[in-house]
Parts: sequence; structure tokens; C-alpha cells
Amino acid sequence: MSFATSRSIASSRLRAWLRSSWATARRTAPARATTRRFCVGVSDGDASTSKTASTRVSALFACWPPGPDERETRSSISPGAMETERVTRIDSEPMACILLDVDGVLHVSGDPIPGAQQAVRRLRDTGHSLRFVTNNSTRPRAQLAEELRSLGFDLTDDELQTPALTAARELAGKRVLALVMAGVVPDLEGVELVGDSADAVLIGGCDETVEPNQVFSYMNLARAFSEIQMGADLYCLHKNRWWQTSRGPLLDAGAFVAGLEYATAVEATVLGKPSPAYFAAAIGVLQAEPALTWLVGDDVEADLHGAQMFGMRTALVRTGKFRPDTLERLDLRPDVVLSSIADLPEWLERSL
Ligand SMILES: [Mg+2]
Repeated sequence: MSFATSRSIASSRLRAWLRSSWATARRTAPARATTRRFCVGVSDGDASTSKTASTRVSALFACWPPGPDERETRSSISPGAMETERVTRIDSEPMACILLDVDGVLHVSGDPIPGAQQAVRRLRDTGHSLRFVTNNSTRPRAQLAEELRSLGFDLTDDELQTPALTAARELAGKRVLALVMAGVVPDLEGVELVGDSADAVLIGGCDETVEPNQVFSYMNLARAFSEIQMGADLYCLHKNRWWQTSRGPLLDAGAFVAGLEYATAVEATVLGKPSPAYFAAAIGVLQAEPALTWLVGDDVEADLHGAQMFGMRTALVRTGKFRPDTLERLDLRPDVVLSSIADLPEWLERSL
């Protein structure tokens, strides 16, 4: 399959996906993306709302990297990586915008992936634009960023994107029944948290403590069910089925979201990965063109599906959620499969 053909298919898949999942969301469903290019300078503070995304996607010009006329494609063979697509070469500026997933790519339960800190540093030193994209919905962004810095990763708070900040913008001023870990509440500023008569129900993710026992108790889930039955919208920070910890795979809150969807016949609006709004916000902040942006992730569903639907390049790493049979079950083709993020800088230097 040619590069152009695969991109065309990705684009049509995105449109179909937007129609099927977003068009059915009630009331505050995000606007759909209509173009792959972004140019308007967007501050981090307003980058994650669907309205902002809608404004941004109306812009027709890519500021950077250079446009299609300055690029050419070529095949690339790498002994250390499994490549399944052609590689885009940019003659004038061999730099990329790179979205780095956090859990499973940079660390697992606070244990850094070997070589990950050095890889991030080398990517910066090379001149790539980085953004850290996480579906973590259990702690405030400032704390998450501080934890990453304590592990040796070089990043600022503003470079870390979380679904809770998207929720704060999407649900500002609304009465919300929030089944979330207490740690994420500081990032929900502007949202009125209530116990009944809610405009929306918001489901967050699980952490490794006993807190999910209380947050997702039968009483709370039944309360959420009743609110949705009475007309509240259903949102979730993500819909992850499970995540990888040092104790092994743990059940995540996607099971509770799916349970409420089943019971109420109402489809949840996902605010984190793989929602287009989340990726649009990340790309907008970097003022990037999706086709020249890389997503590095360990999660085929949350990371690679969303990114590829958006027309981005994808790198799957064999860490975190990756399993030996992951490649056999893949229903998409990542541009490259790497042993870990540690291999990314050298691979990019050879390939771009
Ligand atoms: Mg991950």
C-alpha cells in the first residue's frame, strides 16, 4: 500500500469514526476535525477544548515543519526496528513533533524504562518538539510533572497534557457528579461538583490504592446510573480497560464506563486518548502538522488507534502494555516497532 493511499484511508477512517462516535454524543459533543493542518498559535491554557479545536482546524496553513513540496518519501531499512511504512524525509528541517505517552513508555509504576531519560534529553538536544501525553487521571498535572522530574525526566508542567484539564474546560460551569480519584479534583477547577441533579456524570481512572473501592462502589455507580437516566450526559477521562503496573495488569475504569453505557444505552464522550479532541489539543500546542507528527506509545487502543486515525505517524514500543502477541493481534500498522523509547532518538536520526 502506498503512503498516499494509506493516509487517504486513515483520513476516511477518521471521518467515519467521527461520525459514528461523536455525532451520537449528546448536547456538548466535540466538533469534528475537517483538515489535518494547524497554524493558529494556541496557548496551553486554551488548547484542549473542542471549541478551540474547532477553531484551529479551520486554519488552512501549516507554519512548521515545511510543506509537502519540500518533502520527499523514501524507503528505510533499519536492523534494530520493524518498519512497516515509508518514511517521510524533510530536506530543510529534519526535526519532528513527537507526542510521548508516559505510563509504559517512560516508566512503569515509577520505575523508569532503562534509557528513557537519556532518550528524552537526546530528542530535545536534537531539536525535536516534545509533548507528554498521558491518560493518567488520578493525580494533578503539577504532581505528575514533578514525579516525572524526580525520575530524571526533563519537562515543564505545561508540556504535560492530561484528560482532567480537558474535562475542566469541557465541563466548566456545569453541575457534575464526578466519580474520580480525589487527587485529580484540583485540576477540575471551574466545575461544580455535586451529588445529585447533575448536568453530567464524569468517570475518572483508577489508581493503585484502595480508593477505587470507594469511588466505584455500587452506591456511587447506581447514583451515576440514576443521574444519566434523568438526563445527565456521560463523560469519561478515558476508557482504558487496564493498565500495566509493577504488580501486573490492573483493571481500569473503562469497565465501569462500559457498564454505565450498557445500563443506560448512553454513549460516553471520551475526553482523553484516543479522542480526536485530545490529539488536536496536543498538535495545536506544537503548531504541528499531523502527518509530520509522531506518537510514541505502548497502548494500541488508546495511543496508536487515535493517532493513526488523526493521520499521525506511530511508533509502538515493546514496553509497558506491550505483550508478545500484540503484533499478531494488531488491526493497524504502526510506522515502526521499537524495543523501547531508548531506541527512538537513533532511529529518528537515521530515518528523518
Ligand atoms: Mg501507556
